This record gives sequence, C-alpha cells and structure tokens, in this order.
Amino acid sequence: MNTSDYKQSVLVVDDDEFILATLRVALMNMGYEFVLTAGRAEQAIAYLSSAEPAVGLVLSDLNMPDVDGVELLRRFDELGYRGDIVLLSGEDSQTLNMAVSLAKARKLSVLGAITKPFRAEALAQLLANHAPSLNRGSTLPPRQMSPDMLAAAIRAEELVPWYQPKIAVASQEVVGFEALVRWPRPEGMIFPDAFISVAEENSLIDPMTFLLIRQALRMGKLWQRHGIRTTVAVNISMDSLQDIHFPDLLEQLFRDEGGDTSYFKLEITESRLMADYVSVLDVLLRLRLKKIKLSIDDFGTGHSNLGQLLDLPFDELKLDRSYVQGASSDSKARVILESTVDMAQRLGMEVVAEGVETLEDWKRVEQLGCDQVQGYFVARPMPGEAIPAWVASWPERRASLLSVQA
Ligand code: C2E
Ligand code: CA
Ligand code: CA
Repeated sequence: MNTSDYKQSVLVVDDDEFILATLRVALMNMGYEFVLTAGRAEQAIAYLSSAEPAVGLVLSDLNMPDVDGVELLRRFDELGYRGDIVLLSGEDSQTLNMAVSLAKARKLSVLGAITKPFRAEALAQLLANHAPSLNRGSTLPPRQMSPDMLAAAIRAEELVPWYQPKIAVASQEVVGFEALVRWPRPEGMIFPDAFISVAEENSLIDPMTFLLIRQALRMGKLWQRHGIRTTVAVNISMDSLQDIHFPDLLEQLFRDEGGDTSYFKLEITESRLMADYVSVLDVLLRLRLKKIKLSIDDFGTGHSNLGQLLDLPFDELKLDRSYVQGASSDSKARVILESTVDMAQRLGMEVVAEGVETLEDWKRVEQLGCDQVQGYFVARPMPGEAIPAWVASWPERRASLLSVQA
C-alpha cells in the first residue's frame, strides 16, 4: 500500500470548544495525522464535502445547537458519507443506543458511542479496530529524523509501547501481546519504520529497547490487577544481540523492576538472524539459560533452510504476513508452508500467523495448523491502558467475529 493511501482526515463535531480541543490532542496522540474540528453542524457538512484528504472518520456530538443528532445523521447519509462514525454524547446510554441503531438502519458505519466526559482509553479501545486506512501516517520521513531528537525523546521517555493481542487458535483465548514502539508527537504519531534504523545506527537501540521493556513490565503489573497475566513479546534488534553483556543487562533490568522473565519473550527477525547467527548464538543461549523465551520473527523473509532451525534455541516461529495473506492459491508454496509449520511444531516451537486481516486468513492458518494468530482481524495495536477493557470485551467480540457461541 502506498503511504499516501493512509492519509485521511478525522472530523470532530461538537459545540463545546473544550471537548474539541481535548479530542484533537487525544486523536493526535493515537496517530491520527489530520484532525479537523467543527463547532457547528454546517461547518461539519462543509468539511465532509470538501476536506483534503477526505474525511474517513467522524466523531460527532448528538446535540448541536443548530441541528439535532437525528438530522445530522440524515445529512451524513444524504451526502453519501461512507466512512466511520463515533457518536459522542452527554445523553443517557439508552438515547445513545437508539441513535446508534438509527445510524445503522441508515447503513452508516457506526463504530459505537462514547459518553462525555470521555475517557481516552474508551476512545482508544473503540478506535482500535478502525479501518486500516486511518491509523497510520508517519509525519517525519526517516531522513528528517535526527539522532539528537531521538536521543532526547528516549531520555524524556516519549517513546511508548503499544500492544497487539495474540490469540490461541484452538481455545480462542488471549495468550499474549506484542509490544510495538510508538512515538506520539503533537503533529502526529511516528511509527517505528521511521526511527528504528536511526536508533540502530546511532547506538540508541539499547536505551530504546530497555525503556520499552521497563514500561512493558510496569504495564504488566497494571494488567495483573485486572487478572491479565500473559506473555509480552518485545522486538529486539540484532545489534543488541552482538553484545555479550546484553543478557546480564536484561536480567538486571528485571531485577530492578521486580519482573518475571518467564512471562517475557524476545522477537528477532529471521533475515538478519540467519545472516549473522554464529556471532549471536552465545548470546541467544545465555538468554535461554535465563529462561527468556525467544521467537523468530518474519519467518520466510530470510533464506533459512529448515535444518538451520535445529541449531537455534527458539520457542516460537512467526510466519511472515506475506505467507499468511497469500497462502491459498499456489499449491507448491502451500506444501512448503505446511511442512514448515509441521516441522517447527515437531521441534517444540509454537507457530504464530502474523497479519491475519480477515476471517478467510484465520480459517486458512487454522487449516495449516498454526497455534496462534495476530493481526488486524483480532485487533490493532493499542495503548496499554486500553488492554483490560479490550480483554474483557474479547469473548463477546470473538463470538461475532468467528460466528461461534461464546
Ligand atoms: P513486526 O515485528 O513484524 O511487527 C508487526 C507489524 O505489523 C507492526 O507494525 C504491526 O502494527 C503490523 N500489523 C499487525 N497486524 C497487522 C495486519 O493484520 N496487517 C498488516 N498489514 N499489518 C499488521 P509496526 O508497529 O509499524 O512495526 C513495524 C516493525 O518495526 C515491526 O515489525 C518491527 O520489526 C519493528 N519494531 C516495532 N517495534 C519495535 C521495537 O520496539 N524494537 C525494535 N527493534 N523494532 C521494532
Ligand atoms: Ca515482531
Ligand atoms: Ca513480524
């Protein structure tokens, strides 16, 4: 997908200036790059027909002074607006539910409703499954990302992990999360592809990784209070694994934070691992001796032969999404894939399918025998604070996603 495809506007409609300002900041922190605000319905209508980039998500108050909610929804429909809608209201929940039903009857795409005063976590959770087109948009291309800016952001702890759930195929239970780094900035969210290589080239990758792990360990304690105790996986650069002291530094961090290594996993990308695996084998073994779980990421993007897997102390293999999304058509590719999954499992590894975006993807990887799935079909990455509510809502959501009884 071309990055320009990600660019769509979000429109917030509310007559309360304060709500407009807080929602704008909250949305930008979540990575929405183009946030428009309208204090009057007429202005909103004008934006809907003329905004550039086009509006793909509207958050709208139900009670505007110039137009009531019913009328506003009718106008959205008449304008042919087919993006998503979130309703905002200080009204009681029954009124909100009726408005949601009305909008759905008009075939408008309503993600749900939030009551004011709103909580950022409730909003983040509602938007976690919003259309892929909107959730991204690095505002600063890599060449503009100076090492000094990045170093300052790490020192100020501005980089934060977001979390994407992993689901066991057989039980459909949440079995873990992958931490993915995010850099929220006033002008929009910055995604890892814009700064990981800058970090690697400027000796900033270890400070960044340790910052994320520390935050993930703290977040894990908050989740525990909600009864969530599952594995968190963090992505590790091969550069970190070149340092023989890395396992000790990691262990020290766990000791300082009172964290439990057995709930922790490190993901390492296959292509770089295979290019250089002899030089990191000792570090991998030391990590393994410290009971830290290891996962091969993006499997299939490198050129490992199956035999090489035997030498490596891995607990998990993550099939790259290029295999997951296009696996069905080519029968030869399918045989290779099936035997890879089979062999990984015989070697005691769990196989995770990445990038599961549709029910068809889910069914296909289930047939392949994958143990776990991860992808937009289940949930997009979200802030750690949104996880407890998301986990609580999962049984209901999976019943409708997978059309089975909860
Ligand atoms: P990855 O480790 O393969 O992470 C999965 C990426 O795919 C994430 O992108 C995730 O948001 C995205 N994704 C998840 N489900 C789907 C789906 O169904 N469809 C599609 N199209 N994409 C999906 P993100 O967060 O932008 O991360 C990109 C890469 O940056 C990661 O790929 C990882 O290699 C690297 N990365 C992310 N966080 C860190 C970190 O903390 N440290 C290091 N060293 N690398 C990181
Ligand atoms: Ca990963
Ligand atoms: Ca991956």
